[in-house]
Amino acid sequence: MKIDLSNLTIATAHEHLVKGDFTSVELTQAYLEEIKKKDGKINAYREVFADALGQAKEADTKIAEAKKAGTPFGLLLGIPCAIKDNILIQGRIAGASSKILEDYRATYDATVIAKLRREGVIFIGRTNMDEFAMGGSTENSAYGPTRNPHDSERVAGGSSGGSAAAVAMDGALFSLGTDTGGSIRQPASFCGVVGLKPTYGAVSRYGAMAMGSSLDQIGPIGKTVADCEIVFNAIRGEDTALHGGRGDGTAITATTYPTTRVGSKGAGKKPVIGVPRHFLGGDGIDPAVMKALDAALESFKSKGYDIKEIQLPNISYALMVYYIVMPAEVSSNMARYDGVKYGMHVDGGDVVQDYLKTRRAGLGKEVVRRILLGTYVLSSGYYDAYYNRANAVRAMITNDFLKAFESVDLVATPTAPGPAFKVGEKASDPMSMYLEDIFTVTANITGMPAISVPCGSAEKDGKALPLGLQLTARHGDEATLFEAGQEFLNEI
Ligand code: GLN
Repeated sequence: MKIDLSNLTIATAHEHLVKGDFTSVELTQAYLEEIKKKDGKINAYREVFADALGQAKEADTKIAEAKKAGTPFGLLLGIPCAIKDNILIQGRIAGASSKILEDYRATYDATVIAKLRREGVIFIGRTNMDEFAMGGSTENSAYGPTRNPHDSERVAGGSSGGSAAAVAMDGALFSLGTDTGGSIRQPASFCGVVGLKPTYGAVSRYGAMAMGSSLDQIGPIGKTVADCEIVFNAIRGEDTALHGGRGDGTAITATTYPTTRVGSKGAGKKPVIGVPRHFLGGDGIDPAVMKALDAALESFKSKGYDIKEIQLPNISYALMVYYIVMPAEVSSNMARYDGVKYGMHVDGGDVVQDYLKTRRAGLGKEVVRRILLGTYVLSSGYYDAYYNRANAVRAMITNDFLKAFESVDLVATPTAPGPAFKVGEKASDPMSMYLEDIFTVTANITGMPAISVPCGSAEKDGKALPLGLQLTARHGDEATLFEAGQEFLNEI
């Protein structure tokens, strides 16, 4: 059977594998061909794994065994996926799109990888990203930007631009990204796919390179909400048993994690959606984005959802809080790249010169900028003025959301203030790049889960560029995101 990748979801691909319409080898081959055709232009992949077909062969053997035994097999068995270059896969290079880790090989599997491996997925390759996940356009990769499959003059978003573009160009059926301030949701929005930033702690960060440890989460990017839900369920949960008692100490245990809706409304009742209008009117927002949001709210209304205006009094400080807390954590996390433990080593004659020379040669401009900023806000004279104050405001913003969630179940905003911008358009102006994160950082600051779903488009240069709707829910309430997201996209 000719495989139509553009209409495939995890569930339909699984059905075809069950029926024997195609094998995992054929499916993987179809994705590899698409990558070959398109990736020269798009640059979604840092590396396509040479053994992808070998992995698919193994999956086919397992599928054949299951069929012979008459037992069902898992939804992800034999399904090709792409992994962001900052998530460790044992024995493979994990480079974070940085020169400093160009040849670094992972010595163990990240928890999410171990979990996906257990499901029998095919790791098709690792994807391009902003260096160490610092950026919003994938232009900070040491290996050139990822281009948007909808318009190759434009960025794919970032920092998980490669992971979003890989799915959008049919170069994988789903992918994993990391999200510290929007890096799953914003590229998903730019590329017209779905991206989920789970609740902080829902997915183990073990084996994901740390950027801002109190903000980072790994999450799925897929073509549908249902696909993201399937992957989320496969990767979530705690992991100490997997790693002999190590793992991620902040991961919430699987036994206590809610699988049905949290909150006041019981199952069967439509969630109430809150809209912080006071935060949405700014000049920096493309009118097409507001139009798409209003249309989305109308569509929810027609589906029986209540829409309510809400106040989030401190939300306008969110971006400032993020750009203090994040670099502070970055500056500390980046100290481990010292020319000794991982990757590149430039000899300087003594330990201090080794350190300085390696970092000077290996780290890009944006990473250096954030190390400097972070070191500054943590320095003894400024710690109270910046870092401590930012943490206090962080708590206030979280409280605003908790209060809002007393009367609503979801908060709706755009994912980004506009559609994908042009390659180079914001690259020399970090402030305008940082403003891209205005809607996404709150979910990381508060630890709440948020999803971006495709929502209309903006016409630019004769091309329809995708836009995204962001829904945020209470801690642990991914179930409501999935329900509303699927209803919105008419998946159910
Ligand atoms: N664009 C944001 C930043 O540059 C988000 C990055 C991320 O989520 N990794 O910090």
